[in-house]
Amino acid sequence: MRDRIVGGRVVPDRRKAYRMEPIHAIAEPFLKELYPRVARRPSTDDEIQPWRTCYDEIWRDHSDEIVADIHAFADVHPVDEQRSDGAIKHWASGCGEQFGNHHTDMLGDRFYYCIAVHVSLLTYVKHMRELRARMHCEHGWHRVIERFHDACSGQPGFGFISASEKWGGLNLVYRCDPAAQEHCREAERVAIERASHICEKCGLAGGLRRSAWRKTLCDRHWLERSKEGSLPDEGV
Ligand SMILES: [Zn+2]
Repeated sequence: MRDRIVGGRVVPDRRKAYRMEPIHAIAEPFLKELYPRVARRPSTDDEIQPWRTCYDEIWRDHSDEIVADIHAFADVHPVDEQRSDGAIKHWASGCGEQFGNHHTDMLGDRFYYCIAVHVSLLTYVKHMRELRARMHCEHGWHRVIERFHDACSGQPGFGFISASEKWGGLNLVYRCDPAAQEHCREAERVAIERASHICEKCGLAGGLRRSAWRKTLCDRHWLERSKEGSLPDEGV
């Protein structure tokens, strides 16, 4: 099924898989907007753009560290409201300092490392907001689902379709090529297992509660939900 046009607006096909390209490539618009001098590429073969070269070299040599710093930010700021531009900038400059402490021979490069973390975090957060439109559960599980997405992103044919709560458990729908099935199934198993110990409402430790309904909740939200559930009987 394709995207449909309804009343002049594009309505996306919800079954279409959501794919995220490598973050280095898709961070380019934020780099151009915020650091235009660094973003500028040489226009001729002879021209040298030292800022651009330094930035590309940071990605070439330290992409694993950059990606780890992005995921660490998302773990510490699991709720979307916490992921403000100010919090992102603060995190990026902290990562730049850490980089300088670990690589004392490359002190000058921490400026470019900081930029790389800054623009890729802005990109990551933007994409996770798009991903959240496909999460049909409470926000306590959002980070679990993001981590599943991060684990599978880049696997052959991987595309995220949706996540939802079903019988109190996490239900994931995605596509991938046969070559990626084993990897994605394992990531799916890990995510479902993780969600089974996390309150769907708030993200704190929880467990499966069974009564007239099934939900994975912490003690506080279980009590709240139980009270809600008993309201219709109270006047009897
Ligand atoms: Zn809770």
